[in-house]
Amino acid sequence: MTTIYDELAYVFEHLNSNHDDTVVFIARHLADEPAAAMVDARLQSASPDGITIACRRQDGSEYELEHRFGSPPESLDEVRGQLFGLLGAARNAADESVRLTSLEREIAGTDDLSTFITSVVAVRDLTPNLRQITFGGGLDDFVSIGGDQFLYVLLPPAGRSDLTVDADFTWAANEETPEPERPQGAYYTVRRWRPDVGEIDMWFVLHGDAGPASAWAARAVAGAPAGLWGPRSTFAPPPGTDRYLLVVDDTGLGAAAAVLDQLCATSPAVDVIAETIDADHVVDLPEWDGVDIEWCFRGTQAPGEAGLLIEAVRRRALDVPALYALGAAESREITAVRKHLRNDVGMAPDQVAMTGYWRR
Ligand SMILES: Cc1cc2nc3c(=O)[nH]c(=O)nc-3n(C[C@H](O)[C@H](O)[C@H](O)COP(=O)(O)OP(=O)(O)OC[C@H]3O[C@@H](n4cnc5c(N)ncnc54)[C@H](O)[C@@H]3O)c2cc1C
Repeated sequence: MTTIYDELAYVFEHLNSNHDDTVVFIARHLADEPAAAMVDARLQSASPDGITIACRRQDGSEYELEHRFGSPPESLDEVRGQLFGLLGAARNAADESVRLTSLEREIAGTDDLSTFITSVVAVRDLTPNLRQITFGGGLDDFVSIGGDQFLYVLLPPAGRSDLTVDADFTWAANEETPEPERPQGAYYTVRRWRPDVGEIDMWFVLHGDAGPASAWAARAVAGAPAGLWGPRSTFAPPPGTDRYLLVVDDTGLGAAAAVLDQLCATSPAVDVIAETIDADHVVDLPEWDGVDIEWCFRGTQAPGEAGLLIEAVRRRALDVPALYALGAAESREITAVRKHLRNDVGMAPDQVAMTGYWRR
């Protein structure tokens, strides 16, 4: 049985990988020594007693910090609350000149997001496991931010066909909403935005009925209502970038295609490494001279377990200066790619954007 501590390992992995500055900020607040002494901190483990953070000083010495819970937490949300409490306390104690951490910026950024109430206008199967769903209506005010822009697709609560959210939807209010009224959903990437007709295409992986979003997509028909909350994007190549590496599994194919569409205007060198089941599951991706697409077929192996993406990336001799790498795949698989690019290849943090799209 999965415990909240197993789930926390995933939360820690996400925070250590994507918000390392935030972890250092919290650890510096908890430590009894000058902030400048600490250069690195990682959320290490959690138990009913508390959280352990592994820290490294400028002189290379290492030590552990502990944050003790008042009483053993009963849910993941309670531990999350503790972590946000620590972040709030660190911010309250910080000098005004200390800039916001990446997590604080992300949270602040969500305040301005919009909710679009729309519905399905078309459904088309691209491959046996990838379904394009087109949303239309209610999108007049949608402003595209390009790149790998994504939205949270809000769906009817379990067992219902009516949408319980409106354009005033917020996450804060959602958390207070009783379960039977709470929308189901998941993040999906905008494959294509057609401003002339006000329609958005998204590519949904059909991975079975265990997931509410996948189950909904498998049955979606024209007229089905949905909300779209966003958009946000991670695609932010630093100035001077002139070559790209895109690493995706089936869930990231829409993101890769959208980014390729955008890059097409300047036609830089782009290497795409894409994993899917077999040749029947290959989709057309935008191409020009300079785009090199390597398909990795996992065959009968389960998605998210084959390790093909990291193997393919390791085989490459990467030309690091002016390279930007974007990844979207199963969390552990894409974490392995991020670690390799950062630690072995030596790419800088702003050259690497690897997002865990789902977790096996
Ligand atoms: C920023 C962002 C953008 C995304 N864009 C897309 C997109 O464009 N297209 C897309 O298909 N997905 C995309 N995803 C991934 C999608 O949100 C997840 O796959 C999500 O878990 C699907 O929700 P669900 O309700 O179907 O399944 P959940 O309820 O989340 O999971 C149920 C079970 O299904 C498993 N599972 C979840 N996803 C998969 C999968 N793909 N293959 C196999 N097993 C799976 C889980 O391990 C779990 O056991 C994106 C994710 C993020 C964070």
